[in-house]
Amino acid sequence: MQNRCVFCRIVQGIEPARILYRDEEVIAFRDINPQAPFHALVIPTQHIASLNDIEVAQDRVLGKLFLVAKQIAHGAGYTESGYRVAMNCGRDAGQTVFHIHLHVLAGRFLTWPPG
Ligand code: 5GP
Ligand code: ZN
Repeated sequence: MQNRCVFCRIVQGIEPARILYRDEEVIAFRDINPQAPFHALVIPTQHIASLNDIEVAQDRVLGKLFLVAKQIAHGAGYTESGYRVAMNCGRDAGQTVFHIHLHVLAGRFLTWPPG
């Protein structure tokens, strides 16, 4: 846990967030600046700065991020219409919060490739 990290503060309940899912290893919450009608973030409760920092020992929780992404997208009703799951890594990808997170976007047609 890092107090300087806004997502660690959300994990600790210090920073408010609209939580959609929570267990010991993973939480999901609404993005504060949604880019689609549905925009959630799925994060490990453990602080991992970026995809550059993941380790083999974290493979189970990393896989769980995708299971939770699927679960919240299904729960919000986007199973058939579809949704996008994305993770930015580093400056050129536009990563702004250095605690890994999957974006889950849905509710409108999402163009490809992203900008
Ligand atoms: P990145 O650009 O790092 O891939 O995505 C960071 C995301 O975190 C952005 O979509 C941004 O809107 C969201 N975000 C940043 N600070 C907060 C916050 O305090 N609360 C919530 N819920 N989302 C945040
Ligand atoms: Zn963190």
